[in-house]
Parts: sequence; structure tokens; C-alpha cells
Amino acid sequence: MTAVGVNLDALIPREDFAAATVPFKGTPTGTIGMGLLKDDFFAHSLRKPDFQRETSNWTPQKIVDLVAAFLDGDLIPAIILWRSGQYVFVIDGAHRLSALLAWIYDDYGDKSRSLNYFQNQVPEEQKRLADQTRKLIEAKVGPYSSYVDANKTKYANEKIQERVGMMNSNSFIAQWVPAVDAIGAENSFFKINQAPTPVDPIEKRILRSRRSATAIATRAINRGGTGHKYWAEFSSDIQTRVEIAGKAIHDALYLPPMGGLPIKSSDVPVGGRGYSSLPFLFELVNLVNGIGTKDSLDVDSDGARTITFLDAVQKRLQMITTTSASSLGLHPLVYFYTRGGSFQPVAFLAVLQLVRKLTEKDQLDNFTRVRRPFEDFLVGHKEAFTLIVKSQGAGPRSRPALEEFMSLALDGLWAGRSDSEIIEGMAADNRFRFFATAARIREGGEGKRAFSTSTKSAAFVSELVQSGVRCGICDGLMHRNSMTTDHVERMIDGGGAHSGNAQVAHPYCNTTYKENVAKRRLEGV
Ligand SMILES: [Zn+2]
Repeated sequence: MTAVGVNLDALIPREDFAAATVPFKGTPTGTIGMGLLKDDFFAHSLRKPDFQRETSNWTPQKIVDLVAAFLDGDLIPAIILWRSGQYVFVIDGAHRLSALLAWIYDDYGDKSRSLNYFQNQVPEEQKRLADQTRKLIEAKVGPYSSYVDANKTKYANEKIQERVGMMNSNSFIAQWVPAVDAIGAENSFFKINQAPTPVDPIEKRILRSRRSATAIATRAINRGGTGHKYWAEFSSDIQTRVEIAGKAIHDALYLPPMGGLPIKSSDVPVGGRGYSSLPFLFELVNLVNGIGTKDSLDVDSDGARTITFLDAVQKRLQMITTTSASSLGLHPLVYFYTRGGSFQPVAFLAVLQLVRKLTEKDQLDNFTRVRRPFEDFLVGHKEAFTLIVKSQGAGPRSRPALEEFMSLALDGLWAGRSDSEIIEGMAADNRFRFFATAARIREGGEGKRAFSTSTKSAAFVSELVQSGVRCGICDGLMHRNSMTTDHVERMIDGGGAHSGNAQVAHPYCNTTYKENVAKRRLEGV
């Protein structure tokens, strides 16, 4: 889910539909003109629903076209808003409003509001698109500042003078959803979005199933057990359990917080930045609990199902991260991040499924035996994940192919094949045909252009493979959230607690694998 267009996500913050704390007593206005838009008080009240994906679908050209259309008084489809207490929710039109706000703030994803929102970690690609938009704006429309100053300088061009004269009468038409509560707003959202611009199906499903166990579990994880209590109707005992599990899962995914880009530390969070992760978490909860995209999501009235779901997610996470005894302690940069340093939600979900399959087939020890070459293979062919997502489509559509890619690599390693033999075998499969042109792809990095930040992150990932901390048992890479200290010689075999007998190891390697190996040795297998 990497951004494809100009990132305007920071300009309208997200909020929960049910978050308003004070009633609204005024009369909402029917149009949103320049006066309101440049008013900080109005901008401060704007929110988009928290289930919406990033506002990052528009190209620079589309942003310029919208600004020009606004300034020339051309018809722009109405913005649909809902007033709830101190907030104005943008039900439809977040891209349109954000484009104009971007022009007013001169922030196309790279200035103060965005820097603040992204904690000063704006990827190179985002900066490049922002820059491109700003140049296009300057050439075609002129920056907002030139309009503000137009009356002060007699040299402002005629077109700008003409538009300035019209500026106060131009506006977005606002349609207000008459709902009085969050449920009513949700219903309106659906009616509206049956219309020409379809809502992202996952967004829709999250909203429609607000009171289901999946949605409640998702929100508990998203805010680490804090925020609006969707679980307030459950008994206090259940509420506490929801909050504890939500926090544990949140922390496992999002701590330590992401550092800056390019990546300079291997201490990245397992689940990426997590600033717009509701759709990802929703997929995670459903996947782990075996709920398909067509299954109905019923209301959970007592919270029992929510607890079951959260427990299942926590247990599955403990198979890949944390210091729990079952944890493989997978390094996120090897398994879940692109070479350029972006978290790939679909890769995360695919690995989760792969590990489940290995567990069911009792192949975790076999995995551990080839873990080092398997990780080398993944890092060496990192562009494969990106290419699979590109060819199969985003989200659930590419997950099976990613799983298959990893399974085939493991099968090959178990059969003693070399990297090039494995790849040759894969290229016969339609889904991995890109390997036929792999050499060309590797030359150009992940895409056609090589961006400096991602190139630097890529260099870091390569260096991590060279010099990262490795498990004393399987030689796989270690991540800080999943480190255990192992006695080289087991205590029961007389190994002491002195430092010469200590090494870091993955929790799974340190417990189950080691025990199994010892058992097999005793049995003479
Ligand atoms: Zn290990």
C-alpha cells in the first residue's frame, strides 16, 4: 500500500466517528468558500473518518486541475460533510478539499503540516512528488502567496488579478448529512457511496461492521487499547481484557517507533509506522480468525468473540515476533519491508500464513535448518515481493502468490538446489515470470528510478545482512523485540551461566528447536 500519488494525508486528520464530546448548536453553512478554507478555526475542525485509507491517490496534474477549477468557478462535485460536535467530518471529497488546502498551505506532503504529521520522516519519493506538484502549480496557476500579494503589486499577471477578483465568490458546495449520531452518519456514508465513486471495499466493510468482533478488535489494536471505547457496552472484566490484549498486540507491532528515513537502524517496528493502519489491522484480524471477505460480520453483544479474536491474533503474532517461546523472531527488514525501507502489509500477512502452514505440517525445524540461506534468498531477491504485488494486484489478491513464492524457495532449499536453480524453476510459473527479466530489474533497483533515500535504505539492508546480529543456533538475523540469551551448552547438560557459555538466539531456536534436536540425538535419529 505504498503511496501512488501526492501525499496529502496530513492536511485533514483522522478521527473516530464517535469521538465528538460536545453537541453542536449552530447552523452548518451550505458553501465552503475561500474565507472558510483559509480560516484556521474551520481547518482545525475538519476530520476524515479513521477507516479511510491515505489521501494519496491524486497525481500532481489532478491537484493543479482542481485548484484551477476552483479558482475559475468551474463545477466541482459537492463535498459531503457531517457535523458532529466539535468536528466536521468529510464523508466524501477528502482529496478535493485536501488539494485546495495544500495549495493554501503550500504543503504538498513536504512542508510543516506534513513534516509534523509524518514526524519528519518524509520519504524521498513523497518529496519528489511534492516538488513536482509545486512546480506545476507555479507554472499553471501560481502559488497562493502570489494571490494574497496580488493587490500589493501592479505586476501580478492579469489572469491572477482576474481570479483574485472572483476568489471570494468561489466555493465548494457543501451537502450536509442530516444524521444526529454516528450510526446515522454511517448509514449516509453507504447511501452516498453506492454512487459513481465506489469506496474502497475494505473501508466500507470496516464501517459497516462497526459493532462486530473484528471491527472492535481492530480498533482496540489500532489505538493500543486507548481512544474511544467501542467495547464500552461489555462487562468491565471483558473491557479490561480487550484493552490489555489491544495494547500487547499494538506494542508488538509498533514498538520501537520507526526512526527516520533512510533506515539507519535495524530496530524497525515489526508492523511499520502505523499511522493509517486500520485497513491492515482489519485484514490481519480477519485472516487470523478465518473470516473471508464475503462472510458476514455479526454484532458482538457481550465481547466474548472480540476476546477470542484478539487472543488468536496475539497467539499468531507470538509465532513470528516477541520473546514468547514459540516466536521465530523474524527480522522485519528481511520479511516485511521493501528494500527501500517501506513496510509491506501484504508481505506481513503472507509470512503469517506461511508460518501457520509450516506449523501445521510440523516443518518449523526444517525451516530453522535452512533459515540462513532462506533469508539470504529473500534479501537477495527483495524486488520479487514488489513485482508480485504489481502483477497480482494489491492486498488479498497478491498474498497467495507471495506465500507460494516463499514456499517454493523453501522447497528448493530443502532439496539442496542453488539460488539460480530455484529461480529457474519459478520462472516456469506464470506468476513469477518476471524472473526471466530479473537481471534487468536488479540493475535498476526496485523501479525504473533509483531514489536516494530508498537507495540508502537498500544499502543499509544489505549491510544488515553482512554485519547484523545473528542467532547462535540457526544463523538467521536477530531483531531486538525477539532476543533471548541461550546457554551454548544446555544447563541440564552442565552448561553454566558464565558469559562464555552465552549467545543470543531466537526464542523458538532456543527452546523448541534445541529440545527437538537433543531429543533426536538421544533417539539416535
Ligand atoms: Zn535462530
